[in-house]
Amino acid sequence: MPHAYDDQNIFARILRGEIPNDTVMETDHTLAFRDIQPQAPVHVLVIPKGPYVCYDHFALEASDAEIADFTRVIGEVCKMEGVQEAGYRIISNAGEAGVQEVPHLHVHVLGGRGLGRMLQPAR
Ligand code: 5GP
Repeated sequence: MPHAYDDQNIFARILRGEIPNDTVMETDHTLAFRDIQPQAPVHVLVIPKGPYVCYDHFALEASDAEIADFTRVIGEVCKMEGVQEAGYRIISNAGEAGVQEVPHLHVHVLGGRGLGRMLQPAR
């Protein structure tokens, strides 16, 4: 099974209320909260509430309502955080090659400063 979900991951625990978070926005299907180790002045994580490991898992198996809601929340976060005009970056790391640390789908919304080129050479 390529996308077996581990319900003990840290974001699952945040969703169950076992660990606090700094919420930016919450809907029926989606939670947006600040990254605990921000890499930029704006660093918000957007996660679906459903048990999806990574982006392709969600894109292929989530309902239309979940996908629409998740996409809309990302847009609202860009608006609320004031990054629309200056620009921003959205990243979703997946699996080993993508160096995904938390195995629950999350999109990083980064902004508030110049972000440099998209990729650095692998170390
Ligand atoms: P990944 O490398 O999986 O794409 O990113 C995981 C992100 O989750 C990292 O940026 C890390 O700082 C963040 N993170 C890890 N644990 C916590 C936590 O307990 N709370 C919050 N708000 N962010 C976390």
